[in-house]
Amino acid sequence: MNRFDLIVVGGGPGGIFTAITAAEKGLKVALLEKNKRIGNKILVAGSGKCNLTHTGKPKEFLDKYGMNGKFLKEAINKFSPEMLKTFFKENGLPLVLVEESGKYFPQTFSSLDVVALLKRKMENLGVKIVENIKIENVTKSEDEFIITTDKDTYISDNVALATGGKSYPGVGTTGDGYVMAKELGHKIVPPKPALTPVFVRDYMFEELSGISFQDVKVTVWRENKKVVEKRGPVLFTHTNFSGPGILDNSRYIENGSFLEINYVDKDFETLNREIIEEMNKDGKKTVKRVLNSYFLPDRFIRRVLSLAEISEELKLSELSKEKRENLVKMLSSNKMEVTKVGSFEMAMVTRGGVAIDEVNSKTMESKKVSGLYLVGEILDIDGDTGGYNIQAACSMGVLAAKSMKKKEMR
Ligand SMILES: Cc1cc2nc3c(=O)[nH]c(=O)nc-3n(C[C@H](O)[C@H](O)[C@H](O)COP(=O)(O)OP(=O)(O)OC[C@H]3O[C@@H](n4cnc5c(N)ncnc54)[C@H](O)[C@@H]3O)c2cc1C
Repeated sequence: MNRFDLIVVGGGPGGIFTAITAAEKGLKVALLEKNKRIGNKILVAGSGKCNLTHTGKPKEFLDKYGMNGKFLKEAINKFSPEMLKTFFKENGLPLVLVEESGKYFPQTFSSLDVVALLKRKMENLGVKIVENIKIENVTKSEDEFIITTDKDTYISDNVALATGGKSYPGVGTTGDGYVMAKELGHKIVPPKPALTPVFVRDYMFEELSGISFQDVKVTVWRENKKVVEKRGPVLFTHTNFSGPGILDNSRYIENGSFLEINYVDKDFETLNREIIEEMNKDGKKTVKRVLNSYFLPDRFIRRVLSLAEISEELKLSELSKEKRENLVKMLSSNKMEVTKVGSFEMAMVTRGGVAIDEVNSKTMESKKVSGLYLVGEILDIDGDTGGYNIQAACSMGVLAAKSMKKKEMR
């Protein structure tokens, strides 16, 4: 008989940590995954190296999930980054810190090892793992859930929906959970791609593909109002801007947004003044030589000079006010109209999803259906790059399972 205390729908980090924690408490658990194997998104995470979490105190984490970060307070406190590190250490795969980025990876830098560990852990705890099974529908009749799949039917007292979002559909996340949650009475905030590259009108850097800036200021504008300003690495690709400084901002971008990049970390007035001072000191110096002193990539300087119609030999004394100001603007406040953000196929996470006001943040239980828990990216929560999304999914899973009760204990 397919009867369990808990059915977990979806074998990503959220579902897996729900299953492990519930089984540790003595619940009879089954985890159902539609792919041939669990953890497909863990396998692609961090380009196969699996960036599991980040440095920082739990309180600092909450700022990394946009407007909805506060919802995660209880979850991150109950299962903090420290606890996640301890979990992996105790289970034989310590995490190591990459200092420059603040990211934590398994010491083998292998996502495969992470998935193998989690699978082994679940098996040892007696979790029934069923792969290659698609959940089609979840209903509640009286006190129990009926889970209809493309194979058998399952019955349980608790259900955790951990089906992820809609991004990267190739790995199995096609938004199925939104339909199930909606049928159970939940509101869905329209899903949109996040952690995705940004395309602008008349992109000027296609020839500079591969060039990156380590730490620049990126601002998003809408209707002449500043929406957000963040610092981070920016990468030029053949067709768009990418890199964490762009990806982390993509959740704030809507139609009609403008993207502004400051490549020199100086405002217009300061850079303009510095160039004028340099011209007064030594007018024979070329404009290019002055730009070299700002430690910008040479190919970038050449491209910007060409866009500003300034020859590489032009001397400071020959630089017109108009051209100087145009150049300074390009370097300190390069403002471009956004035409689109990358599609769900390119996006690493989904913003939007099950509305958080209908879920109890202290337990992860639905406020609409008792015994139903919503865990991970299926919710309207998305984090910055750097391990914040896996950490959030695991923390939500642990909190949900800790809040669950066996039926006879209810
Ligand atoms: C390329 C890429 C790289 C990433 N790198 C990182 C990183 O380094 N660090 C980080 O923190 N985050 C990273 N992320 C984001 C992170 O992987 C996700 O946010 C996280 O996996 C979400 O966990 P989850 O458990 O909520 O859902 P998921 O991991 O998406 O798991 C959901 C599971 O549910 C299954 N499922 C869906 N529908 C059904 C159904 N009907 N029946 C049965 N099963 C179903 C899916 O097949 C899937 O296995 C990355 C994402 C991508 C795409």
